[in-house]
Amino acid sequence: MVPTYQQGTVPGVGPSTMPLVASSTVRDGEHLARASRSADRAGVERLARQVTAAPGRSTQGSFSPFDGTLIGEVPTCTADDVIEAVDRARVAQRAWAGRPLVERCDIMLAYHDLVLDRQEQLLDIAQAETGKARISAFEEVADVAMTARYYANSAPKHLRPVRRQGALPILTRTTEYHHPKGVVGIISPWNYPLTLAVSDAIPALLAGNGIVLKPDAQTPFTALVAVELLREAGLPPELFQVVTGAGRVLGTPMIDHVDFLMFTGSTATGRAIAEQCGRRLIGFSAELGGKNPMVVLSDADLDKTVEGAVRAGFANSGQLCIAVERMYVEDRIYDRFVAAFVDRVRKIRLGAGHTWQSEMGSLVSQEQFDAVSRHVDDAVAKGAKVLAGAKARPDLGPLFYEPTVLERVTDDMALAREETFGPVVALYRVRDADDAVARANDSCYGLNASVWSTPSHGADLATRIQAGTVNVNESYAAAWASHDAPMGGMKDSGAGRRHGREGILKYTESQTVAVQRGIPVGPIPGMSLEKYARLMTTSIKALKRVPFRR
Ligand code: NAD
Repeated sequence: MVPTYQQGTVPGVGPSTMPLVASSTVRDGEHLARASRSADRAGVERLARQVTAAPGRSTQGSFSPFDGTLIGEVPTCTADDVIEAVDRARVAQRAWAGRPLVERCDIMLAYHDLVLDRQEQLLDIAQAETGKARISAFEEVADVAMTARYYANSAPKHLRPVRRQGALPILTRTTEYHHPKGVVGIISPWNYPLTLAVSDAIPALLAGNGIVLKPDAQTPFTALVAVELLREAGLPPELFQVVTGAGRVLGTPMIDHVDFLMFTGSTATGRAIAEQCGRRLIGFSAELGGKNPMVVLSDADLDKTVEGAVRAGFANSGQLCIAVERMYVEDRIYDRFVAAFVDRVRKIRLGAGHTWQSEMGSLVSQEQFDAVSRHVDDAVAKGAKVLAGAKARPDLGPLFYEPTVLERVTDDMALAREETFGPVVALYRVRDADDAVARANDSCYGLNASVWSTPSHGADLATRIQAGTVNVNESYAAAWASHDAPMGGMKDSGAGRRHGREGILKYTESQTVAVQRGIPVGPIPGMSLEKYARLMTTSIKALKRVPFRR
């Protein structure tokens, strides 16, 4: 039986004029409870209808980590729904690719404005689904707007046909073109549910592709609000499809049908996805886990470094792929740095809430809470010294965990080398810069790093660190928000890059068109093959002296 599909984005469903979660002056328990009632309930149901799912699918809830409140329910999609979503996106993509690039860019600039204007709604839902602090949710809003602006402004340059040096000067006119892949699948995690659902889609859309997104089961509504705003900005409704459900169920049919897969998540899942993409010979890009180092040298500005270290370790409750989990501090500054850092960490304002008061929010799930507790308990049992935190805060919410600083972490402890993905930092004393670099590089990961020193010394050191992004005198945001430059992981932290030229051209098929005039790139009729080879040898030698035109 062929199911009849619904999708709320087709005519009849208006743009989101109503906040999904009401504004934030009330206590959070009341606030979140309100989200699942009356007016907010209607908003939630409207969003759930935008998922591509046949009628009658079972549903699954999204719950707030702040207090366990049910935010809403979305369909549990099946493989058939994924195939339907890809088919719809494919039909819409053909018309989309035919539209002038300038129109696609205008839509993204309109999206930029909408995201900033409607940020309250986006902040509320991202916080409600993840339990993060409002300032961490704001990072997502800023990132999406900046990504939309960057690619709307730069896509014409990245995508324009480029003349390339031809086989024979003057006689071969060679041009490189970039065509859309078709339908891009995006599988995203829960930790930055707004950014990671749409920021990778923006360049793919501008390049002329359709999208099928599978957000994490914990955070479907943030993704749905973000996609709804894209449609309000002018994106054709069917071009961007969303399916919801378990990755292990929906991942395979998605990979079996899309033309490119953009994955953000754990290294273990990334490997499994890479194998499946490899079997189909489709391109993929994977942004994976990290165990990011921070290097503090004795010529660093202590006060700025301490503030930077707090952001590096505890932004988004440490549930940030580019967060720092290992700090290597030069012997000469170690004691002063540790005293100031620990003092500041103990003062971090923890709290649930949709206000701007707290610096750090909750962990996202019981699974995440258990993983963090397990790492810390294991380390402490094996001799790590707790300088701050290492305990839950049930008085604030069921999944709150204090920002934690440990010393004397040794390799037999799980958190020494495995990604904790929580608010836990291990401090190590190092002899000098060389020692710090060697220790920083002693990891299977290579996602992000942070170096604190004088700008010139830090920049020199940065290129010796095996990480896709290195921030000098910043924690992570300087490199991440440099959208014109590539971002991604070395070693087990990923394959491919987002941002910059690479971040859009990966969604295209490059094509070389070479137009030959005059003589062929081969023997001229009547010429002996030997004479041809001699002529070519002379020509090739002469070409060595022709300057390369970039
Ligand atoms: P995860 O790999 O378990 O899940 C990520 C996504 O993949 C989810 O949508 C999930 O449903 C889906 N998924 C799970 N199994 C799948 C399968 N077999 N096939 C297809 N899809 C599947 O990751 P997580 O634990 O939820 O997220 C945290 C991880 O993500 C951390 O390791 C973190 O470092 C990483 N991360 C990396 C970046 C980056 O840019 N490098 C950004 C954010 C998070």
